Amino acid sequence: MNTRQLYYEDSHLRQFTAAVTACAETDRGWEVTLDATAFYPEGGGQACDLGILGTAAVLDVRERGEDILHLCDSPLAVGTEVTGIIDWDRRFDQMQQHSGEHILSGLIHGELGWHNVGFHVGAEFLEVDFDGPISWDRAMDLERRVNEAVWQDLPIRCWYPTAEELPAVGYRTKKALPWPVRVVEVPGFDKCACCGVHVKRTGEIGIVKIISVQKFHQGTRLQMLCGKRAYGYLAAVYRQNQQVSQAFSAKPLETAAAAARMNEALNAEKFRAGGLEKRVFACIAESYANRGDTLRFEPGLSSAGVRDLADAIAAVCGGTAAVFSGEDGAYQVCLVNKGGDVKALGTAMNKALNGRGGGKPGYFQGSVKAARGEIENFFAARWE
Ligand SMILES: [Zn+2]
Repeated sequence: MNTRQLYYEDSHLRQFTAAVTACAETDRGWEVTLDATAFYPEGGGQACDLGILGTAAVLDVRERGEDILHLCDSPLAVGTEVTGIIDWDRRFDQMQQHSGEHILSGLIHGELGWHNVGFHVGAEFLEVDFDGPISWDRAMDLERRVNEAVWQDLPIRCWYPTAEELPAVGYRTKKALPWPVRVVEVPGFDKCACCGVHVKRTGEIGIVKIISVQKFHQGTRLQMLCGKRAYGYLAAVYRQNQQVSQAFSAKPLETAAAAARMNEALNAEKFRAGGLEKRVFACIAESYANRGDTLRFEPGLSSAGVRDLADAIAAVCGGTAAVFSGEDGAYQVCLVNKGGDVKALGTAMNKALNGRGGGKPGYFQGSVKAARGEIENFFAARWE
């Protein structure tokens, strides 16, 4: 590397000075190289650092060949000394996610034999893919033990084994690598070939939370959060639960049971309301016995209610029952004729009353966008 990689010498270096060795204008900005940098370039699933370099904002950092290119929003004079300041919140977040992922991947590899086959620090979640099945219960057990590793505040060691040492190190890797290999070790949990920058001790990871476990191709995709992200997420979930808890007057750890009871009660009420509705519909229908074609407006019905009332009236009126429910200008409608055909009527109604819907020969269900007067006129003209 032409650039001294200060981020490997000290992953907590937030500010540094370095000499500008080149500055080239491109269509995206100015590509600046330095003799040394603490800006980590994108790599190994970890996002690049952002920040300030001299008077310029750093928009992107990439490795190209032997150089580390800092994409800047303004030019820097070659040969001058500049101060670089890393966006530390962003970097520390990336390190918390990445180091937490290593411990989990090391545990899974050691116990289940699955390999980490994909790793991505997204804007919201950290996604890690493994090449074998992992159940939710297993994931929760692993999560607990990753957190135990965090509490132990173990030192994380990043080192380059000698060519003689390397074969015996026994590290995780996605592919065979030529010497020298950078190994990131969490003692007792993981050894992995990795080019990323990590926290110094596991305690800095803070907390690790697995959010979801999904089948993915032949294996498993885990969504997880570490550190500040995990805290923020769990705090938001707690706030949600607090509102649910207040709404149900239930203790925070009893909201699920309260929701289940509410569901049960709601279903029982629906059943009771359905029974009452049927009796009311029967009474209404009775008043139309043998009256022939019938138009009825009934407020406050569900679409099932509209259908049931039309059905009940059609059973006794001896003609077609047309039931509407809704507000003036927007109604649900059901047409029923027992043993007859309401298809032509439905089609004509759709056309005249800006409606939609359909059905089978003796049955039509849909909606119209028309005023009550228009509906009454439409049926009066057909049924006089
Ligand atoms: Zn890594």
